[in-house]
Amino acid sequence: MAFESSCDETSVAIIEDGAKICSNVVATQIKSHKRFGGVVPEVASRHHIEEITICIRDAMQEAHVTYDDLSAVAVTYGPGLVGALLIGVTAAKMVAWAHHLPLIPVNHLAGHIYAARFVEPIAFPALALVVSGGHTELVYMPEAGTFEIIGETRDDAAGEAYDKVGRVLGINYPAGPTVDAMAAKGHDTFHFPRAMDKDPNYDFSFSGLKSAFINTYHHAEQVGAKLNHDDLATSFQSAVVDVLVDKTLRALKHYPVKQLILAGGVAANNGLRKQLQSAIDQLPATELLMAPRKLCGDNAAMIGAAAYVLFKEGHFAGLDLNADPSLEFDWAPDVIK
Ligand code: ATP
Ligand code: MG
Ligand code: FE
Repeated sequence: MAFESSCDETSVAIIEDGAKICSNVVATQIKSHKRFGGVVPEVASRHHIEEITICIRDAMQEAHVTYDDLSAVAVTYGPGLVGALLIGVTAAKMVAWAHHLPLIPVNHLAGHIYAARFVEPIAFPALALVVSGGHTELVYMPEAGTFEIIGETRDDAAGEAYDKVGRVLGINYPAGPTVDAMAAKGHDTFHFPRAMDKDPNYDFSFSGLKSAFINTYHHAEQVGAKLNHDDLATSFQSAVVDVLVDKTLRALKHYPVKQLILAGGVAANNGLRKQLQSAIDQLPATELLMAPRKLCGDNAAMIGAAAYVLFKEGHFAGLDLNADPSLEFDWAPDVIK
């Protein structure tokens, strides 16, 4: 049984052998946060409390299991919102304690990467491009359980940039899917900057792009000009995708890997999936493994898949496991007993 509650999705899943999803119940709070234009931490925590026991019941019913069928409990313990994480961690500890099950501590970003595991097993060495609401990272994985961040955003995450420009266009949070749909209809007429694209590193920056977008929009408003929103979306998305793909290709030159994994909420983006696929088609030695679209956002199935790697090695946490809102991206070494 796996738990995820790091942000605004309460989720419980039942996973078999880290590869088969028996159930994956996701209760999203999007409606509650919409009117604030983003996630309000205190509101998120309260929703998690209300939803978590319902998610446990539904996940078990859907998978047709009882507590006796379970062999371990896995939970996201960081990074994320501390109050939100605490609900999942407490629920997981309760189930582990009451039913004498081992407790597996999972890093949320490792979970995002392992969502791709439901397509096929991960082959090492692998490189992961993790693009989500809070993170944009290139992660090198020489072997199972080893994560090395070789590049990351220096300011905004890609998903965050989507949500912020979406807000300017009057699109409800989370704006990513709508901007993505609009981008399919427009043209790249604004030629926004591709920040750090040619820099000899694997880092990203999206705050300059966000400012360029907002300045363009407000300037047009001031002079009474009407800009084409689809063209704005296409121009924004082209800049984001160009940089993500270029930096990934640069990384692949120095880290030749068997698999490139695309994961995180923004990995659902059509433009990104398409452009990355055609770039990787040119590299016969590297296979592109994309997390299934419906497992790109936060869910507990991906946490269960990542947990299975630790389960096989007997890496468990004690019942003193705590939420760690700024957990570093390694394989949970401090909490494993
Ligand atoms: P993190 O995983 O970094 O802690 P998070 O869990 O809040 O952050 P995810 O749930 O992984 O983030 O992803 C949510 C983000 O993905 C939002 O910013 C949302 O706008 C974005 N997103 C979702 N679908 C798309 C899409 N099709 N195109 C672009 N962005 C998208
Ligand atoms: Mg979310
Ligand atoms: Fe996430």
